[in-house]
This record gives sequence, C-alpha cells and structure tokens, in this order.
Amino acid sequence: MSRYRLLPSLAQEAVLRNHCAHARYVWNLAVEQYQHWRPGRASAPRYLEQSRQLTEARAEHDWLRAGSQTVQQQALRDFAQAMAAFCDPGNPTGRPSWRKAGRNEGFRIVGHGSQWDLRRVSRKVGQVWVPKAGWVRFRWSRAVPAGVKSYRVTMDRAGRWHVAFATIPALVPAPGNGVAVGIDRGVAVSAALSTGELLRVPGLSGREAARRRRLERRFARARRGSGRRKRVKLALGRLWAREADRRKDWAEKASTDIARRFDLIRVEDLQIKNMIRSAKGTVEEPGRNVRAKAGLNRGILRSGWGLLVRRLEQKAPGRVEKVSPVFTSQRCSACGQVDAKSRESQARFVCTACGYVGNADVNAAINIAAGHAVTARGGCRDAGLVNRELQLLASFTGL
Ligand SMILES: [Zn+2]
Repeated sequence: MSRYRLLPSLAQEAVLRNHCAHARYVWNLAVEQYQHWRPGRASAPRYLEQSRQLTEARAEHDWLRAGSQTVQQQALRDFAQAMAAFCDPGNPTGRPSWRKAGRNEGFRIVGHGSQWDLRRVSRKVGQVWVPKAGWVRFRWSRAVPAGVKSYRVTMDRAGRWHVAFATIPALVPAPGNGVAVGIDRGVAVSAALSTGELLRVPGLSGREAARRRRLERRFARARRGSGRRKRVKLALGRLWAREADRRKDWAEKASTDIARRFDLIRVEDLQIKNMIRSAKGTVEEPGRNVRAKAGLNRGILRSGWGLLVRRLEQKAPGRVEKVSPVFTSQRCSACGQVDAKSRESQARFVCTACGYVGNADVNAAINIAAGHAVTARGGCRDAGLVNRELQLLASFTGL
C-alpha cells in the first residue's frame, strides 16, 4: 500500500463523501443480513443474491441510485471477501462489523486500466480517476509503484483524504545466509529479535501524549454538540492519525529490513484477534480485568504486531514460520529448562537451573528462532496461551 494525500476540490469532496456513505450503507446492510448467521450453518445470503438486493435497493432509494454503482458493488465484494476470510479455518480473521460514520470512511475501486486510471500532471501533483468525481488531484510525494491494481480512498478522523494504491508489496529476496531469526512481540518493547535488538514503534512523543491527555479531559467536559467539542475531537483525530501513520511506516521499514537480513523468520502464533476478543468479554459475562485488559488491547494494537507479520508474509512468502508460543518466555534459551520462576521480572530472565541472565524478551526471541514448539501433555497448550496473555497483561500494567 502506498498512501498519498488526496486533494479534492469542494465539489469533488461532496461526491467522495457520498461514495463513502453509500459504501458504508451497503456494507452495513450486508452485516445486518449476516448478523444471525454462524459458520457451518447453510443458507447465508450469497453475493449474487445480495447483488440482486442492491439492485432493488437502488430502485427504491433515489439517493442510492444517484450514487456510483461501481462503488456500491465493490463494497459488497469487499464484504464477501471479509466474510470468506472470517470463515477460513486456516487463517480466521475477525467477523466483519458495522461501519460507523466518521470513523471508517472509505471506498475501493478496482480494475486499473478499465475502470480507472492515474497520471502525473506535474512534479508534485498526480491525478486519479474517481467515478462521478473525475480526475482528483493527489500529492505526488513519491513514485507510484508499477503494477497497481486497485485503490482505496479514505477520510481519516481529522477530515483528511488519502488515496492508497494497492500493489502486492515487492518481494524481498532472501540473503541466502541460512540464518533464522526469532521475533518476540511484546507491548513494552514492540518486537525483540533473537539477535538482541529491541525494536520500538515510534508512538507519540512525551509532549504529544501529554497533549492528548489534556485534549481527552477537555473532550469529556465539553457539552455534547458544542462547537468546542467538535474542535477538540478534530484535534484528537489528528493525533490518532499521526500515531497510526508512524505505526504503519515502522511496520513497512522493519519488515523490509528483517526480510533482507534473514533467510527464515520465526514468529509466535498468538492469535491476536482471539486475545482481543476474549478480553472484551460479553454482556452476560464481562471479561475479568476488563479495564486493565482494555489497556493491554490498546497496547497490542498500537504496537502494530499484526501489520508487521502481514508485511513479512507478503515480502518474504514461504520464509515466515509460526511457532507455538507455549513456554517461549519461561524456557531458558541456554539450557532449555522451563520454569516460570526464571522470568524474574518483565525485563529480566534469570535461569533457575544454569544461571543464564538476559533480557526476557530476547531470551524468548531466541527460543522462537530455535523453533522449540514444546507441546506439553494434558491440554497445556491453552494453559500456555493464557499464561502468555497474563504476562503481557503484567507487562502493560507494570505488575
Ligand atoms: Zn538455563
């Protein structure tokens, strides 16, 4: 994904806003149809049927008919794809959920060459063809990669427009040095490598974080619907967007660097999504430690784990291995002994058997690099996962 700042005219912005509203409407319609459906159950509405329903909805609603059919059809196709990913037992992702106005604003256009095109009009300005809006200018901040297939237009919470051209990220050739690296993903440290390197996502600076806390307090005090509240919300949105930009940028650079230096990349199979979902709990049975866990979840998302691994898999296909996370943090990388007491603190590992001392995350990363998939007897796999989650929780709350 290469993202560029989109610079629509006022008239074009109105068209883009409509496209977003239509895409959201169609997506949410599909979510509603699937609400009571579970994997394994037959008779889910199919894409073709939904497509027919879309035609009916367009016949009924003028405002929908006035919009671009390409945009609306694509929203349905995107939903079908998200649903297929959700149902894939090998690689399950989260269930497609409701899109909220002002929060997940965007639409996608596919078919470069037949449906849309892009061109460069000056050194710093490019144009992309958007249905019903025509040529929309964007800031040519870097070269658009060859072979782009589709693009997605989004509006972030700060009200800025972007266009992201989708390509399959360029493959990074293996160095051919036969070296395997393990990556331990944590919250305090975003990623620890078995080489001893500790990588951190550049989040907000101390001053920016203080400003965010101030804004959040001001937001809570501001009267609903007031102009002041709107202004504070916009300023907060700008900070969130900045943080997200830094996270994405970090994942791009770190994944390229890792793929270039190592032949084999081993990561833990943590099923992040499941961890996040379990922390939320349900209405009937709220998750324990919900408040602390909500903080953990923010930490997990902020550290950009999922994105890093996704990029690694795209840039180094076939060179990324997922190993069991069980005991990776309790096992001594020097002698192999497994003992929870060896993990002296969040940061320090002191082996109770051989006396090896090291950074706890790096010790885990070395175990991951070795691919020690210790599967304990008696259904301990789950216990291991729970332990792992508790450690992360401890690292976040500083217990
Ligand atoms: Zn040891």
